[in-house]
Amino acid sequence: MTDSVKLMNGSTDKSVCAILLAAGSSTRMGENKMLMRFCGKTPIELCMEAFFKHADEFVVVVSDSTREEALSAAKRLWEGRSKSVKIVNGGKRRQDSVYNALKAASSDIVAIHDCARCCVSDEIIASSIASALEKGCGVASCKVVDTLRFADSGEVVDRDALLCAQTPQCFAKNALMDAYSQVDAEDTYTDDAAIYSSAGNKLYFTKGSSSNIKLTGREDVALVQAILGNKDNVTEKSCGSVPQFRIGLGEDTHRLKEGRPLILGGVHIPHEYGLDGHSDADALAHALIDAVLGACALGDIGMHFPDSDMRYKGINSLELVRHTAALVRESGFEIGNLDATVTAQKPKLGPFRDAMREKLAEAFGIDICAVSVKFTTPEHTGPEGRGESMTVRASALVFKS
Ligand code: MG
Repeated sequence: MTDSVKLMNGSTDKSVCAILLAAGSSTRMGENKMLMRFCGKTPIELCMEAFFKHADEFVVVVSDSTREEALSAAKRLWEGRSKSVKIVNGGKRRQDSVYNALKAASSDIVAIHDCARCCVSDEIIASSIASALEKGCGVASCKVVDTLRFADSGEVVDRDALLCAQTPQCFAKNALMDAYSQVDAEDTYTDDAAIYSSAGNKLYFTKGSSSNIKLTGREDVALVQAILGNKDNVTEKSCGSVPQFRIGLGEDTHRLKEGRPLILGGVHIPHEYGLDGHSDADALAHALIDAVLGACALGDIGMHFPDSDMRYKGINSLELVRHTAALVRESGFEIGNLDATVTAQKPKLGPFRDAMREKLAEAFGIDICAVSVKFTTPEHTGPEGRGESMTVRASALVFKS
């Protein structure tokens, strides 16, 4: 694999070790983000794949809860290939974890990367390693785009003088080890660039990207999915080739309750029973939302609009439809057509079909011709047939716009 480094970086025989950090506690996510799956893979596996062609050696830093996944991902990826992989334990702080990894690494250059940045591109990795090979250091960084102010005075900070440091951060290993050996054990650093420069070394920055995001909170999940789903290089490696057209399925059931308004497809239907739920319980809108999200691999309705969130209490589900349509378009997809079947014993829904189609078409931002709504009675069988609930099944086709 030294050959591939030679090819990318001109003439060098220096070896590269990828140090992948996967020992975080994920407190802001509410679950272990290293074990979440994107395109069917965990952030650990995605990062191993991303660095595969750039590194000769791998050191993966794990916690008790991520060790097993790191081992099995390494086995899947390295089966039958000769590449060194070491799994080491994380420390109390980030710098303790990196130091454990540095002691295990034997390459000339180390490329230190947070596995939470699982959308990292080939280009970002290659340029930061190239900079370390040439100048001893390469830190992936981004310009600041927001206006920054001091919290106390409100005074604006000159953002042109600032950079957001990302990872990978790549260094000549010996120089970084020297810097680590000079660190006061009491001092805590947030990244390796800080430790490297504290020893008087000059930092060199390489181009990061706003797509190289750090999976931190729940709100990042859909973003990571969208970036990975649309990123050509990761898509090829991780998701197979994505065809231009994609389909999705959705299903939703709600109980019927006396006195609740019955809302389907945004239309209020006169009936003594209505669907019960946290929102307006519009099962037709919900099943279609899930079908569309599914087609784009953007998760499901519960992920985007959790019923534990009071913002969605009693909400008109067409608002959720509009939000979903915007998400879909932000991900580079356009909705082709939608089809749904409502299973309900009573009341007669046929007369409301076109009103539902019209409202759904408007909310999804597509032509009414592309929206089909059908109804079926379950012949008095099952909970729908007994009038206890209604179920909607839906499909959606989307395409790359
Ligand atoms: Mg629902």
